[in-house]
Amino acid sequence: MPTAMKEDYYEVLGVSRTASESEIKSAYRRAAMKCHPDRCPGDKDAEERFKKVNEAFTILSDPQKKQMYDQYGHDGVNSGAGGFGGFNASGFGDVSDIFGSVFGDIFGGGFGNRGGKPRAQRGEDLKVDVDLTLEQAYAGMEKEVKYHRVERCNVCGGSGAEEGSAVKTCRSCNGRGSVVYQQGFFSMRQTCPDCGGKGSVVEKPCKACRGSGVERIKESIKVKIPSGVRTGVTLRVSNGGDIGTNGGGYGDLYVEMHVQEHKIFKREGDHLSIDATITYPQAVLGGSIKVPTIEGKEVDVDIPKGTQFGEVLKMQGCGMPKLGKKGFGDLLIHVKIDVPKKPTARQKELLEELAKETGGKKSLFEKLFD
Ligand SMILES: [Zn+2]
Ligand SMILES: [Zn+2]
Repeated sequence: MPTAMKEDYYEVLGVSRTASESEIKSAYRRAAMKCHPDRCPGDKDAEERFKKVNEAFTILSDPQKKQMYDQYGHDGVNSGAGGFGGFNASGFGDVSDIFGSVFGDIFGGGFGNRGGKPRAQRGEDLKVDVDLTLEQAYAGMEKEVKYHRVERCNVCGGSGAEEGSAVKTCRSCNGRGSVVYQQGFFSMRQTCPDCGGKGSVVEKPCKACRGSGVERIKESIKVKIPSGVRTGVTLRVSNGGDIGTNGGGYGDLYVEMHVQEHKIFKREGDHLSIDATITYPQAVLGGSIKVPTIEGKEVDVDIPKGTQFGEVLKMQGCGMPKLGKKGFGDLLIHVKIDVPKKPTARQKELLEELAKETGGKKSLFEKLFD
């Protein structure tokens, strides 16, 4: 997503950068009502606008996210995979929920989560890149992958409370994680400001995690890489991502393959190709050359009589393994003919002899007028 193209969140809501929490809230209400899908059915522009307004409000209504945005702009709040505490505001998976929590009572229902327990949210998916040599991609391997992820705090076990200190149901929201405000004739449901939506509060916050219940840890896992992978192939490690909130479970880890270029072999799909230089006599008379394989062996390859420059000799099954299938691609040998730049006196003598022998050949020009 080209973040540079994104509209400023403050501009989206039409408020100044110094706007207060309640100014932001009422600006959001105004803006969202104008383009709410119920009011503008089938209007694509309104729908886009509505998404943008909701995205802006998601960020600006959350003190932590707002601070990140003020400091780092869109990059700060869209840190994406791999970033600590990264969340993706452009996914819109939560639009209805955000809207429901603030607007549900105005437009009436249809938005889910209108009370009860705090909402469980799955952890973030993460992504790591893995570099492989062509040989490793050929053979497949078990690779150790190191990355960072968010895990339950090991001091407090995720409660966020210091040892011996109690975790209590939040009194402001009665453990629901959200509260309903009455403002004029609107009633609005919002994330509880006292517990941040958790539904519980701690007497003394855990010092290690400052009450968040989570910490950022170094993770190291072994990933089995199948043979035949290529750049761009991504493996998913279930539950390898960040831990979720309110018991929401782990996100996944995506491991993306990057296969390095090889000094000798070029990859063309499942085939490998290689350049082989032969001499002019070998091309004319035929012969045998030694060719390396990706397995690290050297094999003899027959050069047929009359082999032409640029001809491709195929060694069946000597290419890359087919990912997820049986069989292998081929090894394609592109034949080049060596033309000596400084022939020895003897070579020159023989070549001149040869030239005399082949000199009778008519030129293309002559052939044209025959
Ligand atoms: Zn802790
Ligand atoms: Zn609460």
